Amino acid sequence: MDARSSIRVDSDVLIVGGGAAGVAAAIASARHGLNVTLVERYGFCGGGAVAGLSGTVCGLYEATNNVAAGPQQMVFGFADEFCRRLEAMGGLGEPLLYGKTWTRVHDPLVWREAADAMLREAGVRVIFHAVAQSVQMEGDKIEGLSIWTKQGSLDARAQVVIDASGDADVVAMAGLPNFIGDNGAVQNPTMIFRMMGVDVDRFIREYGVDTIMPEKVSAIDPVQA
Ligand SMILES: Cc1cc2nc3c(=O)[nH]c(=O)nc-3n(C[C@H](O)[C@H](O)[C@H](O)COP(=O)(O)OP(=O)(O)OC[C@H]3O[C@@H](n4cnc5c(N)ncnc54)[C@H](O)[C@@H]3O)c2cc1C
Repeated sequence: MDARSSIRVDSDVLIVGGGAAGVAAAIASARHGLNVTLVERYGFCGGGAVAGLSGTVCGLYEATNNVAAGPQQMVFGFADEFCRRLEAMGGLGEPLLYGKTWTRVHDPLVWREAADAMLREAGVRVIFHAVAQSVQMEGDKIEGLSIWTKQGSLDARAQVVIDASGDADVVAMAGLPNFIGDNGAVQNPTMIFRMMGVDVDRFIREYGVDTIMPEKVSAIDPVQA
């Protein structure tokens, strides 16, 4: 029970989750003149890129056997615009070789500041510390969501609801078809952390310029095998 009455929020587009997908969807929708609300459970946007410290922007460049030719950017559009913004704010490094492709290291704090600025400029209503917790259905259409906030619950209604929760939370709440991984098999989890004071020149001399796991590190230890 919550003795407080719920607050009604009406939008054309309601987006759950402020990770890369939700930020892109929100800004693109608002630039089409739509009234957009984005709800995010944490106090900042970024999802895996910020809360998860994933650290790099992958997927912009061609994967090739001819790495000597240098990075060829293949993905543009919003991702490119966002990267340019990060770059202008000093939050994005030059492309680094990563196996057969290139990746760019970003500063998570700059990522969220860039997202805040672009969401604000596009006129998106952003509600932080807001967790989507149940759906209101009309047949098989999601009419809106009940959202938990510290001020009480929001009764958020929209023409279109976009599930950018990264976990298909809204889809699952609505009982719509969903699945996990490849028949349940998912990528291994990774422990992500940041290091300072690394002697980068010495690292490169030892391991090479390829920033994907060097063989020396990933080779199976014959003692343990
Ligand atoms: C260990 C690991 C390492 C990775 N490394 C990289 C990398 O180096 N470079 C790269 O480009 N990609 C990397 N990725 C992939 C990248 O993190 C994802 O592709 C990306 O985060 C997906 O973005 P998204 O917006 O779909 O979801 P997410 O980033 O997961 O964002 C979802 C957002 O929704 C919010 N949310 C969830 N549920 C609710 C709810 N019920 N109510 C309100 N808000 C909610 C979350 O707080 C979050 O902010 C990595 C992924 C993992 C798991």
